[in-house]
Amino acid sequence: MSIFLYNSLSKQKEEFKPIKKKQVGLYTCGPTVYNHPHIGNLMAYVVWDVLKRILIARGYKVKHIMNITDVGHLTSDADEGEDKLAKASRETGQNAWQIAEFFIKVFRNNLASLNIDEPTKFLRATETIKEQIAFARILDEKGYLYKTADGMYFDTSKIADYGKLANLSKVELQEGARVEKNQEKKNLTDFAVWKFTPEDISRDMDWESPWGLGFPGWHLECSVMSRLELGDTFDIHTGGIDHLTVHHPNEMAQSEAVTGKLQANYWLHNDFIKFEGGKMAKSQGTLITLENIREKGFSPLAFRFLILQNHYRNSLNFSFDSLQAAQNGLKAIIREIAFYGKPKGGCQELEEEFYQAIGDDLNTPKGLAILQKIIDSENKPGAKMASILNIDEVLGLRLGTLAKNALDISSDAKIILEERAKARDSQDWVRSDKLRDKLIALGVEVQDTTDGQKAIQVTL
Ligand code: AMP
Ligand code: ZN
Repeated sequence: MSIFLYNSLSKQKEEFKPIKKKQVGLYTCGPTVYNHPHIGNLMAYVVWDVLKRILIARGYKVKHIMNITDVGHLTSDADEGEDKLAKASRETGQNAWQIAEFFIKVFRNNLASLNIDEPTKFLRATETIKEQIAFARILDEKGYLYKTADGMYFDTSKIADYGKLANLSKVELQEGARVEKNQEKKNLTDFAVWKFTPEDISRDMDWESPWGLGFPGWHLECSVMSRLELGDTFDIHTGGIDHLTVHHPNEMAQSEAVTGKLQANYWLHNDFIKFEGGKMAKSQGTLITLENIREKGFSPLAFRFLILQNHYRNSLNFSFDSLQAAQNGLKAIIREIAFYGKPKGGCQELEEEFYQAIGDDLNTPKGLAILQKIIDSENKPGAKMASILNIDEVLGLRLGTLAKNALDISSDAKIILEERAKARDSQDWVRSDKLRDKLIALGVEVQDTTDGQKAIQVTL
């Protein structure tokens, strides 16, 4: 029954112990909605979807909260540079609200294509401005904030163990911080909690606050929303490894400053997708979206399968060749299971082995190996099918639907199959082979068995 998770806070794998007995509060840092998500972003959401699914499979009720960063933030973590939404707005001629609206839809469509369950609740940053101001006020009253020309900043030197998450010393954190333009910052790691709207600029999004017209700093929304929905301390906080050094330490610092408590007990981070060994960057044309994957003839589910082949704490070296191999692998599984028929009984031991593997810090490569083990086992087809359907509740590959669809032969192909049956009855092998080639061209594979032809058309 136990689940083990690698906690970035303790730097070790720990047995998961929830605050409430059967309930888990889970918070995932969500997208900034100014652009199409790239496959790196999507990898993160697939990984946390598997986490949620194994928790549910182990009997927990999961309250999953995700923020949507729809307030214009800055193009760097260092509170500098142009506002991302304003930039998109300048490039497209739409206002920041329209851009956010559009890319929220894109994001949700991407989640659906990847069979990622939506969180219990999405919260948009712009929906919680009042609460964010109230939170920042507490920080101000407690003396954590100071004013510079462009905003209210958090004094990180007031948190004794700031940076504990990344295990970095103050010096390393400061060396790691980007080159700063704001000379007024007391420490390089200090960050904006509230930014002022410059007098000569008109913004689509800004609000009145005790510190003047402006907008919240990026880290603020997560501290506020997680507390609103999940309480002062909740169970699991997730995000990519980039968040280890800036975003999560800052969230944590704000939350601890207000509540005096640890924001979350378990902090999980996924490693990054790289593109053919290098960084994914828009400027190099290596920033790939789900649409790019589709255009090249790949299914989003093949991409999900590729992600599951990798352990989330290892980086994933993406290439279209590896995606092709994943797509072939997934099709091979469907080809195997399509003829299993109705689920009946199950292969309990192998199923339990599967749950243990995924419950062991989300060991999805091992989980897939166990799926193969079920397929290769001597169990009855119905028992294999039953177990495959059960474990797919965690893998989320839609194996049941894909297997069913594979037997749903198109009407064109059905006509050819009937012709081929006739050709075989009259022992016209030349015609039979020709018709088989025609079927292959339609993506239909046919096997000749003692019960006649068995046809399958695998589409993902
Ligand atoms: P963002 O919209 O940039 O805040 O990113 C959304 C999520 O994707 C965050 O949890 C990031 O840590 C994560 N992320 C960003 N780039 C990558 C990448 N290349 N590989 C995996 N995860 C990523
Ligand atoms: Zn966050």
